[in-house]
Amino acid sequence: GPEKIIDKKKEYLIPCSYHFYSNPPQIVKGDMQYLFDSSGKRYIDFFSGVSVMNCGHCNPEILEKTIEQMKTLQHTTTIFLTEPIVSLAEKLAEATPGSLKRSFFCGTGSEANEGAMLLAKLYTGNNEFIALNLGLHGRTHLTISVTGIGMWRTDPFPAGGVHFAPNPYCYRCPYKSVNDECGMECVQAVENVIKNHTSGRVAAMIAETIQGNGGIITPPKNYFKELKNVLDKWEIPLIIDEVQTGFARTGKMFAIEHYEVEPDIMTVAKALGNGVPIAAYITNDKIGKTFTKPSASTLGGNPVSAAAGIAVLEYIERHNLIKRAETLGKRLKDGLLKLKDKYSIIGDVRGIGLMLGAELVKENKEPATRETDIILEALKDRGIIIGKNGEYRNVLAFQPPLVISEEDIDSLIIELDNVLENVTI
Ligand code: PMP
Repeated sequence: GPEKIIDKKKEYLIPCSYHFYSNPPQIVKGDMQYLFDSSGKRYIDFFSGVSVMNCGHCNPEILEKTIEQMKTLQHTTTIFLTEPIVSLAEKLAEATPGSLKRSFFCGTGSEANEGAMLLAKLYTGNNEFIALNLGLHGRTHLTISVTGIGMWRTDPFPAGGVHFAPNPYCYRCPYKSVNDECGMECVQAVENVIKNHTSGRVAAMIAETIQGNGGIITPPKNYFKELKNVLDKWEIPLIIDEVQTGFARTGKMFAIEHYEVEPDIMTVAKALGNGVPIAAYITNDKIGKTFTKPSASTLGGNPVSAAAGIAVLEYIERHNLIKRAETLGKRLKDGLLKLKDKYSIIGDVRGIGLMLGAELVKENKEPATRETDIILEALKDRGIIIGKNGEYRNVLAFQPPLVISEEDIDSLIIELDNVLENVTI
């Protein structure tokens, strides 16, 4: 039972392994947007293992293609070229914005970001990075060092040469701007960092399109255009981390398309494999062609993970998941906004498509962290799993598999309404 699992976890896993809930359910089975625990209880999944299971748990169409590849040829390394890796790269070139074209495959989001930053160093001959407060990019040395959310900056000796700039956190705007009179001071702040804090030898700026772990922080419409202008002026490449936002999650294939900007390098992971480990950084010809020294990831883009990636891209297209995320995301956001009108604890509702967050606060926007945990537990008891994030862990996160139904979204709103009715602040 679940108790035994917790006991064993405490004994055999490094205690850094973090979990939600005081008494987490032992999940034993997944079926599209549903999860089941060891007692047979069903949960609607509004978490997707942090935006991984965009096509649903144990999706039969994707499983069939992945298992077929598994039975035929599992692995060779890139030294023996196989067909799936190049087919996937070709498909990604089509799916990604503008002239992004050349891929390097690896296993995790951390590796993809680490690799993207290495590429930027090789390309520019520079060694410094700019990152955003509350960003999260991984758990390797350099990716932890560009991570701007305190909880995940676990390395006491982070890499030098990383400079942080304010993030576009409109709800808590450090410049006290309100929407229609925003002077985009946070973009100017990036330029100030370049001018006043760096040595001038910047290899890249790295940013998530929407900060996931930082609290579904969604930049204003013109943010990336203005940011890119500043970076172009200083000849600094932009690495966009689409690890959480990619693959139809926001109602576009990649969230950066909402901002009509083409990054110099883009990183993807999570939903590309729909549960199979695969990640990549993708760049244009100009930058990509300069990386000619041998470099490889043993398992990166191996035939099985590449077959899964191809099946995911085909599934997204065949089942119109981009449109679905947009339509269902609107339904969910409307429901959350109605609850915001009803309950003062909901200070802000934000996000795009099916990547939505609700920031919970007390008076004067004081984070309602304890209440967030109570709500998470109560929803779990009612058969709904959601996420939480933000600097103060006070943001409810809704990132369901994109195959979720309208009825499931309505159930969430009804149950959240019931739960909020009973939470006093
Ligand atoms: N970038 C973002 C935006 C992420 O959310 C994460 C993981 N939550 C990572 C990078 C790191 O990915 P991984 O855990 O696969 O290394």
